[in-house]
Amino acid sequence: EGEVDFKEEAKFSQHLKKGEAVSDFAKSKTLAQQRQYLPIFSVREELLQVVRENQVVVVVGETGSGKTTQLTQYLHEDGYTTNGVVGCTQPRRVAAMSVAKRVSEEMETELGDKVGYAIRFEDVTGPNTVIKYMTDGVLLRETLKDADLEKYRIVVMDEAHERSLSTDVLFGILKKVVARRRDFKLIVTSATLNAEKFSNFFGSVPIFHIPGRTFPVKVLYSKTPCEDYVEAAVKQAMTIHITSDPGDILIFMTGQDEIEATCYALAERMESLESSNKQVPKLLILPIYSQLPADLQAKIFQKAEDGARKCIVATNIAETSLTVDGIFYVIDTGYGKIKVYNPRMGMDALQVFPVSRAASDQRAGRAGRTGPGTCYRLYTESAYLNEMLPSPVPEIQRTNLGNVVLLLKSLKIDNLLDFDFMDPPPQENILNSMYQLWVLGALNNVGNLTDLGWKMVEFPLDPPLAKMLLMGEQLGCINEVLTVVSMLSVPSVFFRPKDRVEESDAAREKFFVPESDHLTLLNVYQQWKANQYRGDWCNDHFLHVKGLRKAREVRSQLLDILKTLKIPLTSCGPDWDVVRKAICSAYFHNAARLKGVGEYVNCRNGMPCHLHPSSALYGLGYTPDYVVYHELILTTKEYMQCATSVEPHWLAELGPMFFSVKESDISMLEHKKKQKQEKTAMEEEMENLRKLQEDEERE
Ligand code: ADP
Ligand code: MG
Repeated sequence: EGEVDFKEEAKFSQHLKKGEAVSDFAKSKTLAQQRQYLPIFSVREELLQVVRENQVVVVVGETGSGKTTQLTQYLHEDGYTTNGVVGCTQPRRVAAMSVAKRVSEEMETELGDKVGYAIRFEDVTGPNTVIKYMTDGVLLRETLKDADLEKYRIVVMDEAHERSLSTDVLFGILKKVVARRRDFKLIVTSATLNAEKFSNFFGSVPIFHIPGRTFPVKVLYSKTPCEDYVEAAVKQAMTIHITSDPGDILIFMTGQDEIEATCYALAERMESLESSNKQVPKLLILPIYSQLPADLQAKIFQKAEDGARKCIVATNIAETSLTVDGIFYVIDTGYGKIKVYNPRMGMDALQVFPVSRAASDQRAGRAGRTGPGTCYRLYTESAYLNEMLPSPVPEIQRTNLGNVVLLLKSLKIDNLLDFDFMDPPPQENILNSMYQLWVLGALNNVGNLTDLGWKMVEFPLDPPLAKMLLMGEQLGCINEVLTVVSMLSVPSVFFRPKDRVEESDAAREKFFVPESDHLTLLNVYQQWKANQYRGDWCNDHFLHVKGLRKAREVRSQLLDILKTLKIPLTSCGPDWDVVRKAICSAYFHNAARLKGVGEYVNCRNGMPCHLHPSSALYGLGYTPDYVVYHELILTTKEYMQCATSVEPHWLAELGPMFFSVKESDISMLEHKKKQKQEKTAMEEEMENLRKLQEDEERE
């Protein structure tokens, strides 16, 4: 059960250069001394010279060589910030935050002063900011307001090898900025060696190599495929901890759930060892994933006390974007989560896939930064050689392009098939995304933005969420929809500790609005507000206060955008049916019809989907005939994440291109219409009567 045998492999990396072990390095050196020790420091002058002489430069260097933290500072020191900002993009929000913090420490300035960062819904920059780290998505949105990016003197497109969706779109856009602005410079950095491709894209620009400094890493493969990699990783980590020399451990898992399970299991093993009075050194168990609160993220960089060992359990964030020194052991599950767009289903799904060989080599390399290390691969050598792709597929070729299409359309790039993509997405994906936007009413019949589409672009939200918000305007319930959208933009606020499952489930059920998981979120938020946004109230009700606070921030930022668009804040009061209608208007493409208890099929493509066991809809006592859902997650089954019951005639009314009304439904519609007419007639009658009486009294 999860037992792994390892077969020793040949040396993975042999380029041992300056072989100085540096495990206690950070402890004994000042920040300034640490900066000078980084490989990039030895080539600082040459690098700046190449930048002075060229408008675009590609910089290649091993992870940890200092590209992300040093390059921006060198540019600042070389005078580029006297007339403009040095911007540096990151594909991951965690990296943007963590690196900005580090650089602000190195420059001895408050975070948000000279050095700041911006991620979606969070801007920690100020008037003094001259070095700005941001996600590539943030810079992409800035091009909407300022096509020439006038405030930037230089942009560093960092981690370009990750080929995130926004980075790939920025490539095409920045190429134009470079052509239009002679005073603008662009640096593209990459950890791996596909630099040629970047260089060619910008017209054969120079490639600058930072000399590497790595130690050999011994790679061990599992002899047999491993069945439960969480269990296997935990065992391996414990074996290392008990039997191997000092040195920190880094485990790669696919996502938050697995990371939590791994950390929990490790803590349990440690506890049982300690309680049986075995002499084991301390193990510091540190999770890291993108949704982890920033203060907990920062912990991975803290030094362990003497004699203790760190064990970091990470997603592929630790592959290249974050570098932690002192790692001697890597445990690699060989899997990662990636977003894939299925054009047939017309949706994105986060799926667990084997990583590419390039990624698995990157992972192994993390063990050789401080001294010679070991990498335990929880998969067979044959899987590595025969089943893994040589390199990852760029995101632009595998995800939904709805946002990109909307953005490019608003930049007046009319023919998307002609846009200068480094690797164009499949035409089918572009057309499919355009179709989705048309269905939502953001594009008209000739593919141009509609009024609704123009408004949707203003919001840093996925198109359906933006549509939901704007339908709230039409339906007079924008105040409520705003809350729903904000709650959907943060990780789940429900806290479910493993040792208090029943208690926390009961607490959650108290918030249930039986027609809808969305309205349940609205209910949670409104109750929190009614309790003065108190933190202790959250703890009492098993809610993550940080998540709720984040939702509140998101809400206030979206509110600001609504204000600039002069959209008034309407409310429907306690009658929430209309909120469900707004949700339906944005998610009718995710409509599902009841098949059996808790079992549904997608109305359009017949895909099976299941009500999640935690859904509020079970509280109805029966399962509704029609629901729409926020997204489908594939775990053991296809589960609908966040579902809301809807009236079938809403589907016909809001998504006529997908749904037609059956006879029975028509008569139901007619019936309702008649009821409404009767009601208005009655009201008019009463009003007339009242007037008559008034007149009589006056006479
Ligand atoms: P690269 O971008 O070339 O991979 P970085 O500039 O990210 O390299 O990293 C350079 C060094 O800075 C590494 O040794 C790393 O450990 C250290 N470092 C980066 N961020 C932090 C942080 N938040 N706290 C402590 N050290 C950090
Ligand atoms: Mg970096």
